[in-house]
Amino acid sequence: MTARCRPDQGTAKLALRFHFATTDLPMTSPDSSGTKKRIFSGMQPSGEAHLGNYLGALRRWVGMQDDYDCIWCIVDQHAITAGGDPSETPGNVLDLAISFLAVGLDPEKAIIFVQSDVPEHTELAWLFNAVTPVGDLERMTQFKDKSQRFDSIPAGILNYPILQAADILLYKADAVPVGEDQKQHLEMTRDVARKFNAAYGETFPETEPLIAKDVGRIMGLDGEAKMSKSLDNTIPVLAEPEDVWAKVRTAVTDPQRVRRDDPGRPEVCNVFTLHNFFSDDATRADIDAQCRAGTIGCVDCKRRLSDNIADAFGPFRERAAELHAHPERVREVLDDGAARASAIARETMAEVRDRMGLDWRSAIG
Ligand code: SF4
Repeated sequence: MTARCRPDQGTAKLALRFHFATTDLPMTSPDSSGTKKRIFSGMQPSGEAHLGNYLGALRRWVGMQDDYDCIWCIVDQHAITAGGDPSETPGNVLDLAISFLAVGLDPEKAIIFVQSDVPEHTELAWLFNAVTPVGDLERMTQFKDKSQRFDSIPAGILNYPILQAADILLYKADAVPVGEDQKQHLEMTRDVARKFNAAYGETFPETEPLIAKDVGRIMGLDGEAKMSKSLDNTIPVLAEPEDVWAKVRTAVTDPQRVRRDDPGRPEVCNVFTLHNFFSDDATRADIDAQCRAGTIGCVDCKRRLSDNIADAFGPFRERAAELHAHPERVREVLDDGAARASAIARETMAEVRDRMGLDWRSAIG
């Protein structure tokens, strides 16, 4: 299959606009034998990706594709634990896939697929139940948080980390790009691998975390919580310039700045944090100085940020428009990705079934 959705030169131009170091990669890949380390990561489909998804994950993923053997997954089976309307899921998957391709995930460099297209994920998750203590699952911070929202807690909320371990270990991933809040989940995956290997023989690697360089906490535009679509405190990555402005103009700034000539503190202002990603050194130095001196208004400062975001996301919008006009190209990418992922998954599962004795024909010989 020929993937036709390759990132164009827009991505290269865009890269110049981001001024923070993107990623801290502690692993050597390719290794001395020339073999690239394998990376797996997934994202739940809640439609078009937003700024938080982009800054926190997607831009890192784009930067890893040349050095690593990357597998990017749309984890629709995880999304069902959040409830929601099933009739919206297919559209949400398609929109996230379009966002993936629009921002520069490249099917010629990485496997891009949808979790439910590869049934081995859920099969391996079931088998991992055999080596995962319930107490470990109950201690997960995310379980404690999420379970508060239910009168009767669905088992999927508890077992979520087992499916996550299966996602990663099905491909024997060497590493997973993680943020601070996902470290505990990866530790669970490593623990599942250790327990499985101890019970059934050496099968899985202990997947390493790839920790991003500290870029400061990126808050939602409300200044109160992490960016999230459901909190409506973020910006869709494919938003038109006027929609970017409609969002950025609402952003919370330094609360001590009431009047235009009040001296401000860029270091506590989330708008300035975002300038760090989208504005060049000279612009940031100018804003920093003018903010402290009280010679620039927050509206002007936000306008500069909004223009830079809209400008940086321009190539994404163009590619997405093309893909919306030709969804068959997205289907082709995801079908091909599922076939490539399945080939790896089948191999792992043959080994796992054999080790776990799920092979009755061997009794006949
Ligand atoms: S001028 Fe810019 S950096 Fe300073 S407080 Fe206002 S929005 Fe924040």
